[in-house]
Amino acid sequence: MSARLNLVILGKQGAGKGTQCKRLSEHYAIPHVSTGDILRAAVKSGSDLGREVASIMDAGALVSDELVIRLVDERFKQPDAQRGALLDGFPRTLAQAEALEALLGDDGIKLCINLEVATSLVTERLSSRRVCQECGAIYKDTDIEAISGTCSNCGGDVIQRKDDQPEAIEKRLALYERDTAPLLDFYATRGLLVTIDGDQSPDDVTRAIELAVHERGLA
Ligand code: AMP
Repeated sequence: MSARLNLVILGKQGAGKGTQCKRLSEHYAIPHVSTGDILRAAVKSGSDLGREVASIMDAGALVSDELVIRLVDERFKQPDAQRGALLDGFPRTLAQAEALEALLGDDGIKLCINLEVATSLVTERLSSRRVCQECGAIYKDTDIEAISGTCSNCGGDVIQRKDDQPEAIEKRLALYERDTAPLLDFYATRGLLVTIDGDQSPDDVTRAIELAVHERGLA
């Protein structure tokens, strides 16, 4: 088994990257590194970084490459990331993918999993998505937790993310096509891309990812 299991999980917003990363993180005992989660935590804490990025995120725009690259660099230095990591929401541009290669050196990305889901389906998923502000649990607008506004997991407030509102969704998906979709070629030319149908049950998607990792002798 190779030293580090660094996996990139690609896919449109709402493709199920976060859900799958949480499961895979437990299975492989490597951290789920979501730049969106790191940035949201900074906004919540009211730090300088949080104040800098809040309005950019609410509008569904991208924060600068330089900033997210620095955050990921810091995260990779933490002890729990020494066996690898599941990258969710990063890289999102070619500049970020190149910086990631430089950062990881020889023990780089082992596989890039592309969760493929039609735009109409992710739009529907995102507009009905509600999240717990405390623990990050994800609900649908028809779930009791969304209707009552209270998370059954931790008692936190269940809300709709500002960037899950229609205008921001449209912007985020357009940015995905423009800036992130080219990464599919980037990883395909390196022989690292596996595309998985994200329109299956979460269990089936997890099984397909684990199989792809296993088939390459990575774990
Ligand atoms: P996500 O939860 O991955 O959809 O990220 C939420 C928001 O955080 C995005 O809409 C961006 O504003 C910002 N963000 C997260 N990751 C990145 C990234 N790799 N590059 C630039 N902006 C990012």
